[in-house]
Amino acid sequence: MPKNKNLFTLLRAGFPEDGNTEFIRTGAGAVFSYQDMLDASARYANALAGLGVGPGDRVAVQVEKSLDALMLYLGAIRAGAVFLPLNTAYTAAELTYFLGDAEPALLVCRPKDIDALRLVAEETSVPRVATLGGDGTGSLLSHVETSGAAFDDVERAADDLAAILYTSGTTGRSKGAMLTHRNLSSNAKALVEAWRFTAADRLLHALPIFHTHGLFTATNTILMAGASMIFLPRFDAEEVIALLPQANSMMGVPTFYFRLLRSPGLTRELVAHMRVFTSGSAPLSPEVHTEFEQRTGHAIIERYGMTETGMNTSNPYDGARRAGTVGFPLPGIEIRIADLESGKKLPVGEVGVIEIRGPNIFKGYWRMPDKTAEEFRDDGFFISGDLGVIDDQGYLCIVGRDKDLIISGGFNVYPAEVEAAIDAVPGVAESAVIGLPHPDFGEGVTAVVAQERGESVDEQTILDRITNELAKFKQPKRVFFVDMLPRNAMGKIQKKELRESYKDTYMA
Ligand code: AMP
Repeated sequence: MPKNKNLFTLLRAGFPEDGNTEFIRTGAGAVFSYQDMLDASARYANALAGLGVGPGDRVAVQVEKSLDALMLYLGAIRAGAVFLPLNTAYTAAELTYFLGDAEPALLVCRPKDIDALRLVAEETSVPRVATLGGDGTGSLLSHVETSGAAFDDVERAADDLAAILYTSGTTGRSKGAMLTHRNLSSNAKALVEAWRFTAADRLLHALPIFHTHGLFTATNTILMAGASMIFLPRFDAEEVIALLPQANSMMGVPTFYFRLLRSPGLTRELVAHMRVFTSGSAPLSPEVHTEFEQRTGHAIIERYGMTETGMNTSNPYDGARRAGTVGFPLPGIEIRIADLESGKKLPVGEVGVIEIRGPNIFKGYWRMPDKTAEEFRDDGFFISGDLGVIDDQGYLCIVGRDKDLIISGGFNVYPAEVEAAIDAVPGVAESAVIGLPHPDFGEGVTAVVAQERGESVDEQTILDRITNELAKFKQPKRVFFVDMLPRNAMGKIQKKELRESYKDTYMA
């Protein structure tokens, strides 16, 4: 084992011997080799050092997905800096919080944002700002282009920070999850093993790279295996269908699969050569899982992870990939279900909070030692906040987040169960079940439903259909209809937003 635990140094061990081997191809077919990547990431590392970024310094980045953005990530890791990607949807006001909290040595932003963000940088005492356009533009490139292509990866200990990712904050304020070189390298290794990635694989990469899924799960796994990827700026169903013949694997969020199924271009022949499809970041509905398998012959591997932990569990590569479950713990990772209050381990079949321990678990929340301490048990298990149950065959099933748990008339209602019943009603595309303040029940179970295109289903029909499926206390008191459920970039339904929109339903 190399003494240097820098993630990049560990990934190198998997790089192909022949530097001409393809690492990335674009949608248009331009090829970028492993040697190109080694040279470009070295130039970025040198450029960062030249801009005063030292080991341990944060580099905050809010740019469009591009090859340059990926090289900036790798350059930052090689330079021993702490990479801090920010969702491109965040506003200048939101950036004020992140930059004030993280105190980066450098902010890299889109050229179009420079005026607004220079002010934010001044306000938050960020010493330097550079731009990167992803289309060959940006002030950072002048530093990169004049930098050398030789760079020795900065020596890092396994426990040193490699990245800070702010949690998506679907409940409460966003917190900076500190991820170490060990967190990232161990998870990439576990995924190579679990999903059998080798140098022969080519992954279709259409995920954003400001999030753990596209940045770490996809990219680090491919690098660890010495494999290659087709790197697309965003997901577009028709483009993906056109390019799938050149790939043999794809990692997606459920929305990808939902959209692919809407295209007649998705056929069994198109994907007959594919080795693996994975899904995560939000629940994959059992209907989509089943329909995808019927149409293509491929059972999507659903897995479970989060910003703080990377990937925790996955359905098996060999063996049944069960719809509606997230499978088994990945190699080296322990999972248990515990009572939320007492922390006592619960027996098989009981619903409780999912707790996780392993080399993948983050170091803590940036500058929030108390918040960090609250989310760990004394024996080192991280309290995920997701509620789940493990069945007698060991499959983990997620039933919601503790913050989404509805308590109606003193009974616990797990939204996922109600959503599954509603989703099975013909004409329903998808649903979100939330708890709203209710004078009698504390919270009233409420459903928000998007209909299939061209279908019309009404409140009474839905209520009639589920009346025999669910206990009375779980049945929604009201059903509302929307064209589309609000989602964030990773396909997560924004329940906070829904709770806000309908908050007066029962209180008026
Ligand atoms: P993030 O930190 O943005 O990756 O969000 C992590 C959260 O997404 C987890 O805590 C889960 O609530 C949810 N999540 C991730 N994967 C799945 C999945 N396969 N099924 C259900 N929820 C998931």
